[in-house]
Amino acid sequence: MTGKTLAERTALVTGSVQGIGLAIARALAAEGARMAIHGHATPEQVAAVEADLRACGAPETIFLEADLLDVAAIETMMARAAEWGPIDILVNNAGIQRTAPLADATAAVWNEILAVNLSAAFHTMRLGMPGMGARGFGRVINIASVHGLVASRDKSPYVASKFGLVGLSKVAALEYAASGSRETGGVTVNCICPGWTETAIIGPQVEARAATHGGDHDAGIASLLSEKQPSLRMSDPSEIGALALWLCQKPAHNLTGTAIPVDGGWTAQ
Ligand code: NAD
Repeated sequence: MTGKTLAERTALVTGSVQGIGLAIARALAAEGARMAIHGHATPEQVAAVEADLRACGAPETIFLEADLLDVAAIETMMARAAEWGPIDILVNNAGIQRTAPLADATAAVWNEILAVNLSAAFHTMRLGMPGMGARGFGRVINIASVHGLVASRDKSPYVASKFGLVGLSKVAALEYAASGSRETGGVTVNCICPGWTETAIIGPQVEARAATHGGDHDAGIASLLSEKQPSLRMSDPSEIGALALWLCQKPAHNLTGTAIPVDGGWTAQ
């Protein structure tokens, strides 16, 4: 016994080679979870992430490759994960973002964003959750966005995908609500809905806004925050990791079907 709260649990976090996914993987690893990582990365990056997670406390790590645009690849990933696992904790974190007015958004962009941000989670959940139900313990955490709760202009496919992810999560929460018990930990499904969080995904938006402030990066960030996020502070990915960890622990057995904003008051307005 290590006394760690996730000892003997196995977690799969999609898109965990960087950003919010990596921060979540580090938080789960620190509590002793075996970590299956995933995402677009070079072999060197993968090796560095695996070494990092083992240093954080993961007893074992594995990298599972799958382009989330490819349903067959997702199915292969989930079969490998089940063999290596079984998967107790599934974090659907991988996501992409493009901005354009609705009239300029192409079919290709719509299809790509919906596939990665929404359909991939449907596939990992339909494949991963029956085992959780049978074992009486499972945690699904879907990284949605404030854009799963409110809209912003120029983000039609992204907002649609994130609202869809919140809806999908609520259905799964209901279907699995009675699985397991307080003792086994139950099966829960929740969304975390971050506002502005410092990662690569927001880079193009920050740079575009900085360009309207003479190329000043910090002024670009301040301008984006002042428009929507009343705290005027970015979140750090590790803060999303801390929340995800708490959702995985036993006291959270009755918290399911929620979409939790981490948005500095954005959706309170
Ligand atoms: P990021 O760009 O740093 O990470 C995205 C991850 O998704 C990467 O690991 C990438 O490899 C993976 N990915 C993307 N397309 C993929 C594909 N086709 N196949 C496999 N992997 C793929 O961004 P992030 O900010 O860490 O984003 C993580 C999640 O948080 C996303 O779902 C994003 O929508 C959400 N989010 C981020 C913010 C923010 O401000 N950063 C705000 C709200 C929500």
